[in-house]
Amino acid sequence: MSVFSHSAYDKHEQVAFYQDAKSGLKAIIAVHNTNLGPSLGGCRMWPYVDDGEALNDVLRLSRGMTYKSAMAGLRLGGGKSVIIGDPRQDKTPELLRAMGEFINTLNGRYITAEDSGTSVADMRVIGETTEYVSGLFAGSEYGGDPSPSTAYGVFVGLKAAAQHRWGKTDLSGLKVSIQGMGNVGFRLGKLLKEAGAELFVTDIFQDNIDRSVNELGAIAVTAEEIFDLDVDLFAPCAMGAILDDDTIARLKVGAVAGAANNQLAEERHAEVLREKGVLYAPDYVINAGGIIDVYYQQQGDYDATEVRAHIEEIGNTMQEVFERADNTGKTTAHVADLIAEERFGHHSVPNAENRSGTVAA
Ligand code: NAD
Repeated sequence: MSVFSHSAYDKHEQVAFYQDAKSGLKAIIAVHNTNLGPSLGGCRMWPYVDDGEALNDVLRLSRGMTYKSAMAGLRLGGGKSVIIGDPRQDKTPELLRAMGEFINTLNGRYITAEDSGTSVADMRVIGETTEYVSGLFAGSEYGGDPSPSTAYGVFVGLKAAAQHRWGKTDLSGLKVSIQGMGNVGFRLGKLLKEAGAELFVTDIFQDNIDRSVNELGAIAVTAEEIFDLDVDLFAPCAMGAILDDDTIARLKVGAVAGAANNQLAEERHAEVLREKGVLYAPDYVINAGGIIDVYYQQQGDYDATEVRAHIEEIGNTMQEVFERADNTGKTTAHVADLIAEERFGHHSVPNAENRSGTVAA
């Protein structure tokens, strides 16, 4: 397995591997870029089939965090960690505490938070052995959980998309399909419902569908039908890589704006959407509400009004992306990358203390 020449390596400053035989911990931390500040990104626990899959995931995710934080105007760099294991079977307090010790070895260059397979409660356990953990500030608006802030940011970005696409500031009567009625999707649905939108939803769990039908008056469709609906806007809030040749060809919507990370199966699908006249809200721009919330938790001076105002900036950033894309004929995804790179100085040489990145195995 190659590391420096890995296709997703992309100038990572540091990649560290760690094994703790006693607790069974096997983990990787990837620090992509710290030009704007210490790297912050979630700790994902997943039963990866092999080390290569885990490495690929952590490299792609940590790079994404650099772009997300830069775009959200945060003094943060991009990093991520993965624990190789099944969160339902292998997660023990010993393993989480060992993860905290691993995080300490980076001396604050990486700060962790919850992600798929880890929770706020897990972060508290990790916090027993390291101070470099965020997303567990009980005084924050939602007790540490970033999902409500993510949903609010998606709502703000979705409104910017509707305004740009249809000149509408009022969402009443807008037909929106949501894939995935989990932590973010359900809350987004609630905000949309309150704004007068009509909802069409799907999930792989029936109870999530039932809750949306009962509490939000949503119309339930199957996981396959969600791509074929005659609606205005599609909000992917389940998993990544769902916009591919097949699904884009089926979409009848005018815009895609949702929370899921890495929605495009391949970079070129941004162009396929543009050619079809579908306005795409780049995922890491619209879903930054959670990292904004976590950033303020980490700063220790959490002010809910300030956090909300910062999340609302997502609307202006989205507008800037849409306008620059229109003016240059480039895709919104490409324009977002360019703006983020301008902000974190992609081509600048990292400062000296950041250049000693090591790959430990
Ligand atoms: P979640 O696990 O709570 O919700 C995801 C939902 O999608 C679940 O209800 C799941 O059953 C459903 N789902 C899975 N596969 C599906 C399929 N094929 N069809 C329909 N439904 C399916 O996760 P979440 O926290 O709500 O996050 C949703 C997405 O947003 C993820 O891609 C996540 O990476 C991204 N995201 C979340 C946050 C956050 O703060 N939670 C922040 C940024 C990005």
